[in-house]
Amino acid sequence: MAETFRYEGEVRPGETRHVRHEVGETYLGDPIEIPVTIVDGARDGPTVGLTAAVHGDELNGVKVLQEVADRYDPADVHGTLVCLHVVNVPGYIAQTRDIPIYDQDLNRAFPGKPRSNTAERMANNIYETFVSQCDLLLDFHTSTRNRTTMYHVRADTSDATVDRLARAFGANVVIAGPGDVGSLRRTATADGTPTITIEMGKAHRFQPTLIERALEGVSSVFAEFGVDPTATVTWPGWLRSVPADQGDKTWLRADTGGLVEMQWGPYPLVEEGAPICTISDHFKREERTVTAPFTGILVGVLENPVAQPGHPLCHLVRIDETTHDEIVAEIDRGEFDGYRQRGLRWRGEKAELD
Ligand SMILES: [Zn+2]
Repeated sequence: MAETFRYEGEVRPGETRHVRHEVGETYLGDPIEIPVTIVDGARDGPTVGLTAAVHGDELNGVKVLQEVADRYDPADVHGTLVCLHVVNVPGYIAQTRDIPIYDQDLNRAFPGKPRSNTAERMANNIYETFVSQCDLLLDFHTSTRNRTTMYHVRADTSDATVDRLARAFGANVVIAGPGDVGSLRRTATADGTPTITIEMGKAHRFQPTLIERALEGVSSVFAEFGVDPTATVTWPGWLRSVPADQGDKTWLRADTGGLVEMQWGPYPLVEEGAPICTISDHFKREERTVTAPFTGILVGVLENPVAQPGHPLCHLVRIDETTHDEIVAEIDRGEFDGYRQRGLRWRGEKAELD
């Protein structure tokens, strides 16, 4: 039997509701409300949560959720969809990652407490009202400002359902680990709501190709978990799962200060010893080349062209020979065309102007 979804109101099977849910107050005493869509399917099935803009300036997921909330008819849905379109409303309004009041990171505040600081109160309200009712959760993020990230999933694949969720989403790269303490993903997963984070592109943008790919991932998850029996699961052609805490991936950091010029490309595949970028001083007297310590794919890259010692330059994930050959075959088939065009362009950014 399909069930009524209850929060402070209720949504009956076969019904979609677009609501604003109050999670706090501004300095003026006005309500801070998050936009929520609940699609309560006419048929029985899992309750799937989708969250975006937990970091207020990470926008690709906001577009994904707008589409999901619009596309799925409750008459066809087996289960319930809970779309929290903008989780961090204060950050979203200010277009900042954190809650602008004392720069609190909402994604380190879960599950929160009702009588603690602003972030913990907001987190607690959202967690108790919506997340705790979900059987699965997809949390959409992007890279932070001045960086960009390859499309990938973060998931604690030691949990069988999380692993199935990560695979069903269809991303080629999965960074495996429990995630940060207080993050929505880690908290919900430990609490019995298997959750994956989707990392896609950069902040402050809608990147249509990535958004389209994420919508395919959502559809594939809905197929795998019976939410949409008419859809098909699209498993990834190749999959590289990397433990988050091992030497299989590394942030290459600058050892000198100066101007950074990226040398990699046009594909994110780099061979051991190949140049990734150069760092030069302003007089062009010295130039240091940063090379790949092992063969791998770049999953994150600095965009801001200045660096000082300790600055992250790029995030490199080691790949084995089989994966390497599969990626080369994909490159030959043109699957990576447009991945990086001029400057630092990643797949999905073709339409952007300089
Ligand atoms: Zn984020």
